[in-house]
Amino acid sequence: MDIGKNLAGIKATLPEGVKLVAVSKTKPPGFILKAREAGQNIFGENKVQELVRKYEELPQDIEWHFIGHLQSNKAKYIVPFVDLVHSIDSFKILKILNKEAGKIDRIIPCLLQFHIAEEASKFGLSEKEARAIIESEEFKEMKHVTIAGVMGMATFTEDEKIVRREFKTLRGLFETLKSSYFHDDPEFKEVSMGMSADYRMAIEEGSTLVRIGSTIFGER
Ligand SMILES: *Cc1c(COP(=O)(O)O)cnc(C)c1O
Repeated sequence: MDIGKNLAGIKATLPEGVKLVAVSKTKPPGFILKAREAGQNIFGENKVQELVRKYEELPQDIEWHFIGHLQSNKAKYIVPFVDLVHSIDSFKILKILNKEAGKIDRIIPCLLQFHIAEEASKFGLSEKEARAIIESEEFKEMKHVTIAGVMGMATFTEDEKIVRREFKTLRGLFETLKSSYFHDDPEFKEVSMGMSADYRMAIEEGSTLVRIGSTIFGER
């Protein structure tokens, strides 16, 4: 497996304006260094302890994205350094990030994760829940988190029609939230969707951030 070659292959297909998060979960730090040598500097992890360990061990200028379900008692460990949290799936976790970031005077960009898949197991908000968060007084007073867009995971299926429909739903949610609440906020700009199996379709449907692991680093 050639990480540099895999990355080059993906990057050649990314249109301008679509960024790549290299999902390095379960892979050793050496794999991340290899990807950096090939020019990749944004990495995604889904476990707090693993992310903290890698952050401490690896160069400080890496941009770290958290992409997994974040437990409230662990959020504080990533607050000092995380660059984007893709996975806000409850108001509670947003409040905790805001509070912890306030203690060290950071502002953490966050994406609202939506439940777009058919599987009951996937985390995420409904449109109604997202609107309730954004319209609340408590949210309006938060100074240490910003909402930078939306994130979602499509159903794990071979059926392209289902996956495409779910990506369209997420892009649609982005547009409707943008026009309702964020029309004059240039920071609300990201649609995080697309993984190894479906990123090409995600790009066609308006993704701005693809999260790719196994195509770069090999199967887990
Ligand atoms: C693991 C993971 C990915 C990457 O999946 P691959 O199929 O390996 O590309 C993307 N997003 C999330 C949220 C993940 O947990």
